[in-house]
Amino acid sequence: MTSVHDSKDLGELGPIGVFGGTFDPIHYGHLRTGFELQQALKLAEVRFMPAGNPPHRERTIASNELRLQMVKVAVEGQEHFVVDDREMRKSGPSYSVETLGELRREFPTRSLCLIIGMDAFLGLPKWHQWRELLELAHLVVAHRPGWRAPGMGPLGGLLVDRGTGRVLDLHEARAGRIYIHAVTQLEISSTELRALIQSGRDPRYLMPDGVREIIMDTGCYARKD
Ligand code: ATP
Repeated sequence: MTSVHDSKDLGELGPIGVFGGTFDPIHYGHLRTGFELQQALKLAEVRFMPAGNPPHRERTIASNELRLQMVKVAVEGQEHFVVDDREMRKSGPSYSVETLGELRREFPTRSLCLIIGMDAFLGLPKWHQWRELLELAHLVVAHRPGWRAPGMGPLGGLLVDRGTGRVLDLHEARAGRIYIHAVTQLEISSTELRALIQSGRDPRYLMPDGVREIIMDTGCYARKD
C-alpha cells in the first residue's frame, strides 16, 4: 500500500490547508482541528485566515486588528501553522472563491485544501459561486459536535461524486475532492465564548493563555454599557 510519504506522484511539498474563520475569538476548537488535520493529512502548512468583513454574517465584535493579533499569538511557535491576513487587508467583503483564486495564482502547482467545519459545509450552497470552489481547492470538512454529513440534496450528490476517504487523493490532485475527517469534539464556539466573557466568567482553558490575556487587557468582549 502506498503511504503519503512514498507516493511517486506526491509533489515535494504537501497540500496547503486554508482555515478561514472570523476567529472572534480564536479558541482551542479551531486550533485542535487545524493541528489534527495537519497531522492526519500531512499538510505542508495550515494557513489561518481571519475574515475581514464577512459577507454572510454580521460584523465582528472585536476589531480586525485585535482578531489578527489573537490569531498570531495563538499560533506562535507552532510548526506548520501560518497566519495569512490577506482578507483583512482588503476593503469590502472577501469571498472564499476570490481568496482561493488568488492562492491558486500564487501556487499554481500546489494542492489547496479549504478547511471548514461541518456546520459551514452544510451552508455551502449559500456561498458566492460555491460550485467553483472545487475547481480551485479540495474541501476538507471537520466534524463538529451535533452535525451530520448530508445524505441528500445538492451536497449529498456532491459527496457521492467528489467525496474521498483517501488522503493521497488530496496530494495527487490540486483540487476537486471532498474529504470528511472526524476531529476531537471540543464543544467550544466563539459565540458562546463571548457570552461567557460578557457575563463575567473566565475563558481559561478554552483558548491559549495569550489570547485570554488580550481579551482581558482590552475588554474587547466586555458588556458595552
Ligand atoms: P461562532 O460560534 O461565532 O459561529 P465559531 O466558533 O464557529 O464561531 P468561526 O470563526 O466562525 O468560529 O469558525 C471558523 C471555522 O472553524 C468554521 O469552519 C467552523 O465550523 C470551525 N469551527 C469552529 N469551532 C469549531 C470547533 N469547536 N471544532 C471544530 N471546528 C470548529
